[in-house]
Amino acid sequence: MNPLLIANWKMHYGPIKAGGWVRAFRRERLPKDVDIAVAVPHVSLAAARASLGRASIPSLAAQDVFWEQDGPYTGEVSASMLEEFGVQYCLVGHSERRNHLDESNDMVAKKAAALQKQGIVPVICVGETAAQFKKKETNKVLRQQTTAAIAKLDKESKIPFVFAYEPIWAIGSGKACPSQRAREAHEVIRGVIVKKMDKTIAGNTKILYGGSVDPNNISEYITTTGIDGALVGGASLDPRVFGLLCRTAVPS
Ligand code: PEP
Repeated sequence: MNPLLIANWKMHYGPIKAGGWVRAFRRERLPKDVDIAVAVPHVSLAAARASLGRASIPSLAAQDVFWEQDGPYTGEVSASMLEEFGVQYCLVGHSERRNHLDESNDMVAKKAAALQKQGIVPVICVGETAAQFKKKETNKVLRQQTTAAIAKLDKESKIPFVFAYEPIWAIGSGKACPSQRAREAHEVIRGVIVKKMDKTIAGNTKILYGGSVDPNNISEYITTTGIDGALVGGASLDPRVFGLLCRTAVPS
């Protein structure tokens, strides 16, 4: 299974800068045995797509979706609209959305299911707050979030799903989660998938680590059992740094 690295620009780079990032990233030496995607704001999808031209690397990812197909949902974007842009992955349940927009586990589950139906791989973000971490509630939170997120997914679907374990205290803080702690968290997430779906699906599901990943610590995560790649925020804003991360993630 190739490692998967996803750049998450968050609310950075409108269409003009997005095109420049994609062109600069395309000039990087990119490994073949690492799957690479870039999650861009909705308004920058067209520019990113145009700058990609016929190239298929990086894959295009979105940062959010609404669960209905179409209708009176002002401001929202559906999975079929994302599919028209050739979007292959879409984040759901990022902690910044759970926090600032009160996204619930149920909303996350509906979004993930809508994406899967449309043939787009949902990248489901889960993770505990600093307070939950201190109270040793991480595993409980992960079990709840994972159980809820997969509840509406179709076990028989050919479209895989991805999880990203992102301890909230590690996001953008420069305090990355120790790889062995992340490994335990990934085991909890995979354990829920085994229980609620089956062993094969769990074994084929990529679980990424996210939270202050940078060129100095990426190898540590990539070489840890059960960590199948990374979701990268801050360090992905510079296309050369993200290129370096991708090269460093090549399996040995
Ligand atoms: C993220 O927001 O998904 C993330 C991992 O951010 P950062 O790499 O900046 O911690």
